[in-house]
Amino acid sequence: MPVGLSLKNVSHEFGTTRVLRDVNVDVAPGELVCLLGPSGCGKTTALRIAAGLERLQTGSVLIHDEIVASAGQYLEPEKRGVGLVFQDYALFPHLDVAGNIGFGLRHITGAQRRAAVVNALERVGMVDYIDAFPHQLSGGQQQRIALARALAPVPRVMLLDEPFSGLDVARRAELRDTTLHVLKNAGIATVMVTHDPEEAMYMADRIIVMNEGQVMQDGTPEELYFHPANHFVASFFGEVNLFPSRVENSVASTPLGNVEVTGIAGGTDVDVLVRPEGLRIGQAGRAGDVLANIDAVRSLGGVSLMHLSVHNGPHIHARVPRRQVMDKGGVVSITLDPEMTFVFPRE
Ligand code: ATP
Repeated sequence: MPVGLSLKNVSHEFGTTRVLRDVNVDVAPGELVCLLGPSGCGKTTALRIAAGLERLQTGSVLIHDEIVASAGQYLEPEKRGVGLVFQDYALFPHLDVAGNIGFGLRHITGAQRRAAVVNALERVGMVDYIDAFPHQLSGGQQQRIALARALAPVPRVMLLDEPFSGLDVARRAELRDTTLHVLKNAGIATVMVTHDPEEAMYMADRIIVMNEGQVMQDGTPEELYFHPANHFVASFFGEVNLFPSRVENSVASTPLGNVEVTGIAGGTDVDVLVRPEGLRIGQAGRAGDVLANIDAVRSLGGVSLMHLSVHNGPHIHARVPRRQVMDKGGVVSITLDPEMTFVFPRE
């Protein structure tokens, strides 16, 4: 894979606290990779090291096959060809939009510079605001300008840190879409930091899930959702129903039936995780059905969440299409969808 941006075996400490452990991130030109993980897991530190805002301690950073940081080597941030967009827009309040975007284009002048500014604004749909000052713009508009400012010098790599988190739901959706199309059209290697799995799945070609400074899994959204590497990754992508069990004769038994297990030795304590959409709900009636009472049904728009009490078993949540919903107080049968059922040794 050609290198757009690569972090190789990067470890980092603040004082005695290790915040990154042997982290590897590879992004091809034109690829968008999300760093996803809970607050404090080291995402921003990884991004700052890539940008050169934080001095690398261990490992190396490459941009387009050139080493920009390694033991004894350090290229200043402004020479790395990196565009940055942070959560708080960070526009210069005393400069208008043209001034803000032109700031990174000081190497060109006059009409050429104006054309580059207009070009960047066209990409984010903000040409009409070229003379506005930041305080005259909404949060979403300011973030579009921040994106245009980062794009104007034609960076080789774009680094985005929670760029949409200050925006309301509608603005966020709109700006995600614009950002995705602009970056894809420009063919830039992009890393975006987020703690929102849905945002990562919407934006990313690949997602790198981190926890406590370590990479838990690196894969496509599909791989992470359907083939999570461990309990942490499976549950980070949304609620799961959890059934503690033990492997016996290659089977883990749960109150909802048996699950076949491969690659885990007999006698191992395991957690069986089932996504709410991995529960198939049917009409109760046949002998041997696993039955559950419907305690409550909540509409989530296109799907509904059913709260169910398994007879002689746990309380569980199922996510079902609206048309399949049955009423509170009824009894349903439940089976497991093996595609949405995961078994991991207990940690
Ligand atoms: P968030 O989503 O909350 O921004 P994050 O995953 O981006 O979290 P980082 O900002 O990289 O995490 O922080 C990782 C850890 O390093 C945290 O425990 C944080 O408190 C610590 N940390 C970050 N910067 C510094 C610093 N300059 N000095 C000391 N500790 C720091």
